[in-house]
Amino acid sequence: MLKVKSFVFSPIQENTYLLYNEFNECLIIDPGCYFPEENDELKAFITQSSLKPRMLLNTHCHLDHVFGNKFVAETWELTLQLHEKEKPLLDYAPTSGLMYNMPFVNYAGKYIYLKAGDIIMLGEDELTVIEAPGHSPGHICFYCEKQHFIISGDVLFNRSIGRTDLPGGDHETLLKNIRETFCIA
Ligand SMILES: [Zn+2]
Repeated sequence: MLKVKSFVFSPIQENTYLLYNEFNECLIIDPGCYFPEENDELKAFITQSSLKPRMLLNTHCHLDHVFGNKFVAETWELTLQLHEKEKPLLDYAPTSGLMYNMPFVNYAGKYIYLKAGDIIMLGEDELTVIEAPGHSPGHICFYCEKQHFIISGDVLFNRSIGRTDLPGGDHETLLKNIRETFCIA
């Protein structure tokens, strides 16, 4: 049984998710921690809950979702997992950071590429990888069928959908994917 803890990080107000099970294993999705105190907040929750981070995942690689990749990877010795089509966005993110006046140092480790249908196991719990491009070219979502929840990144918001005016965005593709993947008319 997975529990979900969310954080809101950086001036962009990005949602970072931490999923953990009864064995205290956890995975970290889209660490958007930008300021040192945000890194400390994430680390404090993990330490105080005695969690053992097992995976670092990105739904997509707009800068606000990748600020904390380097910190998380180095602190818990994790390899970043993402869709291959997000790699150019990841590479571009520090340049984008300069444009937004939010400089940061990118993750520089190895990559594990995810694709539709991949199953991510955390102990006995499963997440299915769903591809939902449009907001970004290789956007993926993590669906927990057993508990009926989805970590949808920037595809869906409360009563809204993701913006498509950023590099690699495509509005029609996003709408098509939301209709087909999430069954919303
Ligand atoms: Zn985004």
